Amino acid sequence: MKNEKYRLGTRAIHAGQEPEKITGSVMVPVFQTSTYAQKSPGEHSGYEYARTHNPTREALEACVASLEGAAQGIAFASGLATTNTILQTFQAGDHVVCSDDVYGGTFRLFDKVLRRFGMEFTFVDLTNLEAAEKAFQPNTRLVWIETPTNPMLKILDIERLSALAHKHGAKAVVDNTFMSPAFQNPLALGADIVMHSSTKYINGHSDVVGGIALTSDAKIAQDLRFLQNASGAVPGPWDCFLILRGLKTLHVRMDAHQRNAMTIAEHLSAHKKVEHVIYPGLKSHPEHELAKRQMKGFGGMMSVRVRGGSKEANLFLSRLKLFTLAESLGGVESLIEIPSIMTHASVPPGTREKLGITDNLIRFSVGIEDCADLIEDIENGLAAI
Ligand SMILES: *Cc1c(COP(=O)(O)O)cnc(C)c1O
Repeated sequence: MKNEKYRLGTRAIHAGQEPEKITGSVMVPVFQTSTYAQKSPGEHSGYEYARTHNPTREALEACVASLEGAAQGIAFASGLATTNTILQTFQAGDHVVCSDDVYGGTFRLFDKVLRRFGMEFTFVDLTNLEAAEKAFQPNTRLVWIETPTNPMLKILDIERLSALAHKHGAKAVVDNTFMSPAFQNPLALGADIVMHSSTKYINGHSDVVGGIALTSDAKIAQDLRFLQNASGAVPGPWDCFLILRGLKTLHVRMDAHQRNAMTIAEHLSAHKKVEHVIYPGLKSHPEHELAKRQMKGFGGMMSVRVRGGSKEANLFLSRLKLFTLAESLGGVESLIEIPSIMTHASVPPGTREKLGITDNLIRFSVGIEDCADLIEDIENGLAAI
C-alpha cells in the first residue's frame, strides 16, 4: 500500500499488510519459524534465518514506518533494546546531550551501562535552549529528546532542538512513546530518528513488551538494520502480530485517551483537594502553546499534586477501584502510580526534588473506560483525604 495516499487511521489498519500471497489470509500470519528452506545452497527467497528476516516483523515495521512518515522501521524486543541499539550506532568517546527528566530506564542505560563503554552523557533541562546549547561539546554526536517528559510532562521543542543538534553536527533522536504517531511526528519536525516503546500506546493493550526505531536517513537505517541482526535484540513473531493488532485501533484509542484525560484534568483543576494538575492540554501548562503547535493531541498522561504529602497520596490511592496501581502506561485500562516511590525511585532524592517529583505527585495513565466512572472513582479516592 502506498503510504502517502491515505490518512493515518487507514494506514494504521492497512499499511504493510497486503493479504498473504498463498491463501489470501487477510491478517498477516504469525511466521513462527526460526529458519527457511533453501532450494539449493545459497538459493532462497530472501529469507534465510529468522533473526535476520521475518515476514510478520516486516509487516509491523512497514506499518509503523508509514504512521511516522519514515522510509524504514526497525523493530526490537523492547523500548530499551531499541534505545541501546540506536546508541550502538555511535562509539566510545562520543558525547550525548540528554533531557534531564528522561525515562528512568533510559537514564540507567546511559549512566550505568554505556558510560562503561566510554560514552559520555550530559543531562540538562532541554526546555531551556540556552542551557541545551551550553551542554554541547566538540565530541557531541547525539541529542536525546523525550517529549512530553516523564513524569513532569514538560514539552521540548523538537524543531529547535533538532536544528541545534544539526548546527553542531549531531543527530537528533525523539522518544515519541507518550504521544504515539497519531499525535506527534518528530521526523517531520527535523528529527533524524524517532523511537517508541511499543509496550505503551503503539500496542495499547498491556500484553506485549516491544520497541521500534523509525528513520528516513538511509545510512542510519542501514546501520540499525545491520545491528538488529548483529546484536540480535529482535522481537518474536507472535509479539509482532499482537502489536499489529493493537495498532489497528491506535487513532481511535488515542482520541478516547485524550478526551477522558482532558475531562479529568479540567475536573481536577477545580478541585479543592488538588494542588496542581500538569496536563499539556490545559492553558495553565507552561508550554501549552508549543504543545498545540507541535502535537496533534495532548495524550492520556497527566500528573497531579494532591494537597498534603505522601500520607494523603497513599490514602487517595488506597480507595481507588478502577485505576490500577501499577507502573507502565498507554493501555486501554487506567493506571496510576506515585513516581517518587515507583517508576522514579532510582532517581537520586536531590534530583527528584529539583525536577519536582514530590511525594504528593501522582501520575495518571488515563484509559478509555467510561469517563463518568473514572471521575466517580477519583472522587471516591479524594474523599479519603
Ligand atoms: C516504557 C518506556 C521506555 C522503555 O520501553 P520498554 O518497552 O519498557 O523497554 C522508553 N521510553 C519511554 C518514554 C517509556 O515510557
